[in-house]
Amino acid sequence: MIRLFRQSAPERAPAPDVIDLAHEGGVTRVAVLRSASARRITLRVRAATRDVVVTAPRRAALAKVRDFVESHADWIGARLARLPQAAPFVHGARVPLRGVEHVVDHAPDRRGVAHVVERDGVPHLLVGGGAAHLSRRVEDFLKREARRDLDAAVARHCATLGVRAHSVTLRDTTSRWGSCTAQGALNFSWRLIFAPPFVLDYLAAHEVAHLVHHDHSDRFWTLTRRLAPLTDRAEAWLRTQGASLHRYGAAADDAAPAALEAVDAREDVEPPPAQDAASESAPLDPVEALLARARAMVEALDARARVA
Ligand SMILES: [Zn+2]
Repeated sequence: MIRLFRQSAPERAPAPDVIDLAHEGGVTRVAVLRSASARRITLRVRAATRDVVVTAPRRAALAKVRDFVESHADWIGARLARLPQAAPFVHGARVPLRGVEHVVDHAPDRRGVAHVVERDGVPHLLVGGGAAHLSRRVEDFLKREARRDLDAAVARHCATLGVRAHSVTLRDTTSRWGSCTAQGALNFSWRLIFAPPFVLDYLAAHEVAHLVHHDHSDRFWTLTRRLAPLTDRAEAWLRTQGASLHRYGAAADDAAPAALEAVDAREDVEPPPAQDAASESAPLDPVEALLARARAMVEALDARARVA
């Protein structure tokens, strides 16, 4: 009896499901996320964190999820192979700053903050201090530059519209480049500093326009285009090049929360285009399907209130 009781007692913290996919001589670990609102099994290869996630309805059998993942092994392999190589901040690394390639130049004898110098017509980012701190110093420099550009762009667009942002915060998000809360707090990815200036300017315009229209209505887009005439070009740039902005620097340290973000509210110009997700209908009984749809609608309304 005791043994039986022990066996059926709920575990305190059940480990998340993972599927180890053997493919072409290697093993790829796929994280399984259970979602109350998911009606289908959806597979994603995320460029930012270079990992694979499958989202499944709560009741879908693990065996079925595994079948789905295994039947897409080639697709996963091709997507992973296509991801840009990681580019850590080391001496000699080439890092775009406002869309212009800079060479990281470690000068251990120098003191003070990192700064840009021109050598033979090639911009170098001169970084002093010990080698152990090189990566952090480069990142600190880039974040300061991002902060300066975003503050200036937000202030300019706010002045044009006669509105005020509650705050401007830089983050290292993987699922969106910018967001605006209902309270008017703007958030941006500091990695926008790698992109050409018209892209950063567009993101600032987009979020400032949300201070007026908390949606993605026609009026919102008209206003955004008024602030940033290159809106369409910037959107296209982010669709095709955006994922590459995540390759620079140390490995993404927000890998864990990103897994949850992928099933959370998805707003704004997020990197993975539609063809980066494979999905398949998973049969649900009609009542469960109806409940799932209702939950999804509530979550969607919730999400809109939170971020749009
Ligand atoms: Zn938006």
